[in-house]
Amino acid sequence: MSEKNRQEENLIIIGGGPGGLSASIYAARNGVAPLVLNGPEPGGQITTTSELENYPGFPEPVGGFELTQKMTEQAENFGVRLEYESAEEVDFSGDKFIVKTEAGEYIADSIIIATGAEPKTLGLDKEDSLRGNGVSYCATCDAAFFRNKEVAIVGGGDTALWESTFLAKFAEKVYILHRRDKFRGAKILGDRVKAKENIEILWDTEVKSIKGEKKLEGLRIFNNKTNEERDLDVDGLFVAIGHHPRTECLNGQIELDDYGYIVTDKKQHTNVPGVFACGDVQDPDYRQVVIAAGSGAKAAIEASEYIEEKENAFPAKEVKMKNMDQQSDSEEKAAGEKEEGSLNLSLSLD
Ligand code: NAP
Repeated sequence: MSEKNRQEENLIIIGGGPGGLSASIYAARNGVAPLVLNGPEPGGQITTTSELENYPGFPEPVGGFELTQKMTEQAENFGVRLEYESAEEVDFSGDKFIVKTEAGEYIADSIIIATGAEPKTLGLDKEDSLRGNGVSYCATCDAAFFRNKEVAIVGGGDTALWESTFLAKFAEKVYILHRRDKFRGAKILGDRVKAKENIEILWDTEVKSIKGEKKLEGLRIFNNKTNEERDLDVDGLFVAIGHHPRTECLNGQIELDDYGYIVTDKKQHTNVPGVFACGDVQDPDYRQVVIAAGSGAKAAIEASEYIEEKENAFPAKEVKMKNMDQQSDSEEKAAGEKEEGSLNLSLSLD
């Protein structure tokens, strides 16, 4: 951490995915000068998504990495500062909040937690290398790539049940592979699944291995009661066995639900006044980029208001808005051209 960043901040946003970046843009435009602790890699979960077809404003699919780059650029244009450090420990017990990273310590008036949630993995060979090439952790994101194909989905909770009915709208056939003989998810979702003609449930079934080198070409599955093995000829494997919200650095200082997600009210407030959360770390239900971005906007509006009302808040740092100089240049130029235009017009009228 450089000396200039070992300073007091009015707002620290922990996490540089769509939730955190959207929050940073809104906060910066509200006159707050947020510092984003991005973690070592840019972008969060979205960067592992090959293409997004459902993010508004992009009629052609946009790559997850490209979308993150655009969001980052937009944030930096408003003077948002990003540090590629991870929050390792926080202390939310005082009037000012402390965030420790591997490089040092920050003090802030307000915090937005946007650390995301990682999908749990099966831990199989090739699961990681074929991610995006047949292996997916998000049916809402990737179902359309499996139109008229056969796919398998692993899990028996609400996510697997909801996602399998979504997949069934695109895929010719969906196999649900569940390790037990009873769903964990809601009965109504289970009933919906059972009523779908193109969904087949394989109870007590697990994946033994994934076939294919460059893309997934099938699965080897087994019944865990009989140990019987067989091949399952599918083009896609959706893993829906739960998510792991990234809350390790909070050391139990923020209220979490039974699944480990941060509990927020509908304005993104956590149980600690001045600490807000947005994105997947507080969203067990949707986990969508557009929703993360929306909740980031809400968190930033709330945090800005909190800082404005706080008596001893650190003043906003002076930031350089990248585009503003260019913008004022071009505005001046445009105004000049306009004046010239009106001059010409008046001359010609004369
Ligand atoms: P979940 O309820 O924890 O279910 C995970 C499922 O994956 C379980 O059926 C579990 O099997 C299975 N599983 C876990 N590890 C596995 C492994 N290594 N191999 C094979 N199977 C494995 O997770 P979730 O479905 O993601 O739901 C999480 C939360 O989000 C819940 O609160 C849920 O209600 C909420 N949610 C709500 C909606 C909605 O429509 N409102 C939609 C999605 C999610 P076992 O059953 O044997 O443990």
